[in-house]
Amino acid sequence: MDTVSHAVHYIFLAAAACFVMGLHLMNHPRTARRGNTLSAGAMAVAIAATAWLILGENVISTTGWLVLTSGGVLGAALGLWAAREIRMTAMPQLVSLFNAVGGGAAALIAVGDLLQTGHPAALGARVSLPGALDIVIGAVTFSGSLIAAGKLQGVVSGAPVVFPGARLLNVLLPASFVVGTVWLVLAPDSRVALYGLVAVALLFGVTMVLPIGGADMPVVISLLNAFTGSAVAMAGFVLDETALIIAGMLVSASGGILTKLMADAMNRSIANIVIGGFGTGDSTPAATGSGAPAQVRSISADDVAIQLAYASKVIFVPGYGLAAAQAQHELGDLAKVLTDHGIDVSYAVHPVAGRMPGHMNVLLAEANVPYTQLKEMDDVNPEFPQADVALVIGANDVTNPIARRPGNAISGMPILDVDQAKSVIVIKRSMGHGYAGVDNELYTDPKTGMFFADAKKGLSELKAAVGEFVG
Ligand code: NDP
Repeated sequence: MDTVSHAVHYIFLAAAACFVMGLHLMNHPRTARRGNTLSAGAMAVAIAATAWLILGENVISTTGWLVLTSGGVLGAALGLWAAREIRMTAMPQLVSLFNAVGGGAAALIAVGDLLQTGHPAALGARVSLPGALDIVIGAVTFSGSLIAAGKLQGVVSGAPVVFPGARLLNVLLPASFVVGTVWLVLAPDSRVALYGLVAVALLFGVTMVLPIGGADMPVVISLLNAFTGSAVAMAGFVLDETALIIAGMLVSASGGILTKLMADAMNRSIANIVIGGFGTGDSTPAATGSGAPAQVRSISADDVAIQLAYASKVIFVPGYGLAAAQAQHELGDLAKVLTDHGIDVSYAVHPVAGRMPGHMNVLLAEANVPYTQLKEMDDVNPEFPQADVALVIGANDVTNPIARRPGNAISGMPILDVDQAKSVIVIKRSMGHGYAGVDNELYTDPKTGMFFADAKKGLSELKAAVGEFVG
């Protein structure tokens, strides 16, 4: 190994240490931004070091360098533009598209490697095994993430798309991966095995994600994120690139942990979601207990303001509607008026509220909400019976008591026990459904008042009205 390779390996080691530290810093909202910058900086240094290494080895032609740099510049420009310009509400779709791009790129690396003419004879299991795994995981991630992005964007039905034999197919397709992988390891030059594996993996990505609906999307999104990391790590083995292996494995491991947390939050098993067992229940209509049509009580801003002004304890329950309305600052302002008046205020954060893991935490951190007021589901649920008012802002599925009964799309999902509060107020624009598409029994509970408004406008009105009562 020459001096340059030695130096580059030390740089990779330092970059890997920075990735781990970056991940650690992401543990807390206060340090998360620093963690992101540190990891991104380390990746930039690792890319520059790789360029230095291949420059020294002189293995790339001028045209090759031209393709490499223009691809890098174009990709970086597109990524920067997307991250800056895409609305916060469209971030989950963007993350899914990034997963698709990562998985697809990793799969193409393996395809490119296996297609090199004259190369296959020299290939052993050392390259063809990670190559085959890279193709399988990368292609599944590519097509699966595109479908997930389509579902989140609303261009593919968010409801479970089930067809006869779907479950059987979702068992048979992964079984065929084993056959294809063994074939490719034994005959790395077989084009049938190569293209067959690509086609089957692309198909499985589609058939795996299409039947997932209801409220189970958070699990599949984090699973696809973990897959992207594994595919990238496999690409690292194919190219013999340490930094790629380490970065991929870190994404894979953290994505895997997130998937487990999301599955636990939904009270689901990952295997059941992938094979298509959940999110497919019938929508059970809101029960009234007496068979009579459910009554909805609509209230005005002044009614809500009186309840808030005379409360001792208020729990805010933010959901996707808060993100859609970009009303986090208005919520923070209202909370400040209440706390200044001596009212105990806290925020109940459900793990799958919004459209991406940690969505509510990001929004509330943007509004500089004190971290001490944020409470996770298990901590806040015992507090609802003592709350004078639970104010639900654009949350729906995560508050729906129907989840406690079997036979519907969110059955078994732990919810925020909002219905245990002394009084419940819901801010949303209509009686429209949430992501899972089921009626919410909370809205017809006699102690619930519906304040029909856009979250941003409604919260501003409430702040002004509460100000008059307490001011
Ligand atoms: P929901 O999607 O269940 O409900 C959001 C509610 O917000 C809607 O009923 C809508 O009602 C209301 N809303 C929309 N726009 C506005 C607005 N401008 N002002 C006021 N209200 C508004 O949200 P939850 O957060 O309760 O639940 C999240 C759901 O998304 C779960 O089913 C979860 O599984 C799923 N999911 C979560 C992901 C994650 O990683 N967190 C990823 C993918 C899916 P209306 O139209 O009447 O105003």
